[in-house]
Amino acid sequence: MSSPASPIIIALDYPSMDAALCMADQLDPSCCRVKVGKELFTRAGPSVVEALHGRGFEVFLDLKFHDIPNTVAGAVQAAAEQGVWMINVHASGGRRMMEAARERLEANRLTTHLIAVTVLTSMERGDMADIGLDIDPLDQVERLASLANSCGLSGVVCSPQESSRLRETCGEKFFKVTPGIRLASHEDDDQRRTFTPNEAMSAGSTHLVIGRPITQAKDPMTALMDIENRLLTDSPGR
Ligand code: C5P
Repeated sequence: MSSPASPIIIALDYPSMDAALCMADQLDPSCCRVKVGKELFTRAGPSVVEALHGRGFEVFLDLKFHDIPNTVAGAVQAAAEQGVWMINVHASGGRRMMEAARERLEANRLTTHLIAVTVLTSMERGDMADIGLDIDPLDQVERLASLANSCGLSGVVCSPQESSRLRETCGEKFFKVTPGIRLASHEDDDQRRTFTPNEAMSAGSTHLVIGRPITQAKDPMTALMDIENRLLTDSPGR
């Protein structure tokens, strides 16, 4: 299976394996990757990952592990042994937790990318103060991203608003995987501040997690190709 050149990861946010596969069957695995999150995985389990691999997709398993180092290392190993392309943990689990996870992958020669969640974008300054962090969320994002980088992780999940600052702190190659993408920046639903795919890539994002703008389009594959073409027009060298 060869890796798609596309930065696009499609969020398969469905409550059943059938619904997720029905969407996957409308997509070409050479043009995108897919993301399996907590709801789908909790309902369908490893079978959904296996079914997506069987169709040729690379899978980002978005389970955001956060526990003591040994437990997270075991969970990360279990996910990587299913052959997923990328998995994630919460950076707030700390250095020993992230290093244990990364070392477990290396010890078992597992090449799955390991990235970290910094501050959930649903957290505002008041929410941070509630948990004893009297700090600007962006400063905390930067601190946790630097920590993840120094623990040898491949990158972070971040908002496109944070990508340019993280490009400076953690470098170009460090993955900046960003949700909150809409085809027009004024498009409004439950995502608050959104970026278009081109805006996010220009800000320094390396991968784009896109759900509803593609999965709820009349023709998801046409919507995907449309985004791809616009990205290629902007940066033809990609
Ligand atoms: O449909 P939409 O494009 O909003 O989907 C975005 C995906 O990214 C969803 O799976 C959502 O859970 C995830 N996500 C997010 N914001 C974050 C982290 C993850 O929207 N901060």
